[in-house]
Amino acid sequence: MASVLVVEDDQFVRSALIRHLTEASHTVRSVGTALEALREVAQVGFDVVILDLGLPDLDGSEALKMLRGLSDVPVIVATARDDETEVVRLLNAGADDYLVKPFSVEHLSARLAAVLRRANGRGGSAGAEALIRVGGLEIDVRRRLAALDGVGLDLTRREFDLLTFLAARPGEVVARRELLAEVWQQSYGDDQTIDVHLSWLRRKLGETAARPRYLHTLRGVGVKLEPPA
Ligand code: CA
Repeated sequence: MASVLVVEDDQFVRSALIRHLTEASHTVRSVGTALEALREVAQVGFDVVILDLGLPDLDGSEALKMLRGLSDVPVIVATARDDETEVVRLLNAGADDYLVKPFSVEHLSARLAAVLRRANGRGGSAGAEALIRVGGLEIDVRRRLAALDGVGLDLTRREFDLLTFLAARPGEVVARRELLAEVWQQSYGDDQTIDVHLSWLRRKLGETAARPRYLHTLRGVGVKLEPPA
């Protein structure tokens, strides 16, 4: 469940979006112009914005840029143009994801879920825990600080992201593929990258693969973080 701002001037598309999002138990606000959208975002904290690029008052990418100047709220842009250059341009301009019109309800749901999941992973406003505690491990997500048994850990950015991602779901086995997608934001790559980072992280936590305390590797399945027994 998330709070969603729908920015769409087409009354028909707008009602359909509102209906679907409400049915999926999200709370929805909707506006029809970029200026109204900017005003809303400045005043209300949304979990995600769905932004139509063909608005009557401002060019879509201009609207996106202005929105980015106000907030780092995740933005899914809805565009009628399905060409790679356009999509790359939008992602570079700060869009988190995109939908090509006309899109199905299933497509929208999938994109929305992915964006919210990523926002959670990076400690966004979508209900992410600001402080994670697992056993003697303490992670201050917003300030990007981690400590073990009261002693601060000196982690690289990637190690911190990896630790936070795993610690946010203690006891849950996470596949390497998922780590690659969520922490590295890559849809493909080799497991070695992850194994190397895991071993560095392990060393900083003062443990080894043979004698794990927090980080447990399940061969051929994935990795999980849980407090020592
Ligand atoms: Ca439009």
